[in-house]
Amino acid sequence: PLPEPVGDSAPPVDEHPSRIATVLNHLRRSADARITHPRRFRIQQLRALEKMLEEHLDDFLQALNEDLGKSPTEAKFAEVDVVRAEIDFALRHLAEWMDSTGVKVPLALQPAMAKIEPRPLGVVLIIGAWNYPLQLVLAPLVAAIAAGNAAVIKPSELAPATSGALAKFLPLYLDERVFAVIEGGVDTATELLVARWDHIFYTGGERVAKIVAMAAAKHLTPTTLELGGKSPAVVDNHSPATAKRLAYAKFMNAGQTCVAPDYILCIGDATPLINRLGQAITSFYGKEPITHPDFGRIASSQHFERLLAMLEQGEVVFGGEYDEETLRIAPTIMRNVDLDGTLMSEEIFGPILPVIEVKTFEEALEFIARRPSPLAAYLMSESPRLQSIFSDRVRAGAIVHNAPLAQMVIPTLPFGGVGASGMGSYHGKHGFDRLSQMRSELNKTTVVDTLSAIYPPYSWAKRKI
Ligand code: NAD
Repeated sequence: PLPEPVGDSAPPVDEHPSRIATVLNHLRRSADARITHPRRFRIQQLRALEKMLEEHLDDFLQALNEDLGKSPTEAKFAEVDVVRAEIDFALRHLAEWMDSTGVKVPLALQPAMAKIEPRPLGVVLIIGAWNYPLQLVLAPLVAAIAAGNAAVIKPSELAPATSGALAKFLPLYLDERVFAVIEGGVDTATELLVARWDHIFYTGGERVAKIVAMAAAKHLTPTTLELGGKSPAVVDNHSPATAKRLAYAKFMNAGQTCVAPDYILCIGDATPLINRLGQAITSFYGKEPITHPDFGRIASSQHFERLLAMLEQGEVVFGGEYDEETLRIAPTIMRNVDLDGTLMSEEIFGPILPVIEVKTFEEALEFIARRPSPLAAYLMSESPRLQSIFSDRVRAGAIVHNAPLAQMVIPTLPFGGVGASGMGSYHGKHGFDRLSQMRSELNKTTVVDTLSAIYPPYSWAKRKI
């Protein structure tokens, strides 16, 4: 049974409400009573979330291993620690973020006080994807709590163990009057999207993002859409460090990372780079990566089949082994690939790395410009000139020189896409701002009526003002 909500402003809208409608009515009433607004409440809830991650760390690591074969070390730093860093950062800066900012008033309107005050939006719906099933619902939740909102999280049904663990533990720590986990697949998501929210925060693919945006439009609800795309890596510097950084960023979580380098555009002969990438893979995951405990598996058999079809679209020059039973595909490098096949038209989202040779840097820039804007674009080069041209010419959610993925864990950098890779961004204060209303407030006394100069009738003298 749910605890009694506070406030009595909104009666239930439905005589026989579904569980979703009941939970929502409940949350809406408590949110309307502003229980999420005080700073003390936000801090207490953020600490409670941190406590949940601390006390149930093993449960979450086990769930992530069950869902995606993630090694506990990788699951801890790429999921749990990312959320904990977001919580710590928010706790340290919340007072300053919540502060209103006084702004200048034009002389003609003085004396007056004007300020911008961040206000909570209300009730936020957070829909997450399966590839980082913990981080992708909890990091937005940190932003929602910090900004003083109530929230419902709907984890991905494709990571059922993590979704189950969240549904089991979150209500034991967070205030159930204003935070809820609703588990389920497409039907549940569809039902959730019918309701009126104050913001919908969606992470996932482009096709569903359009469904979310259309449902949100019915209520004019603002959305944040964290999508994906084919993030390119242009390689000018073929050093061993370059190969290691690329292999690490690509094959973490078996390539199922939204900002993983999707493909490489190699300036000049790719053979030395391919050799070094192979060496890097072997040094990370040994000679038989598909049995290595630090190398993850593919989320579902449907994604597995989709990836196997991609292996046919070019020449496999490294890896290529797979195991249907354990849904594992070895880190694979391909060259001479078909540019019209799914390998190069869809986001790969798996451990297959196509390397495409281009003759010049200019050719690489043109290749990227002909495709939809990705979530990130990587340049592996020490040349300041190339770096500057790359930053200037490439349109992507993030431009990163030489450190693929690292942009994700810097809480002062906004994380989000542009164009086909999404809209809106979060992490740190960017998440707080995204889930707040930046409200204008003006206060001008009537004791001295300095506005009388503008009232009608508009005499000749007033027309000259
Ligand atoms: P998914 O299948 O888990 O779907 C995402 C969410 O949408 C799930 O919660 C699911 O239940 C819901 N959903 C599915 N069909 C729906 C429908 N018809 N109506 C409403 N909701 C529905 O994940 P996915 O889409 O396969 O995710 C992979 C994509 O997500 C990739 O493109 C990846 O790049 C992107 N991604 C982006 C980020 C980011 O932060 N930008 C992070 C991870 C993944």
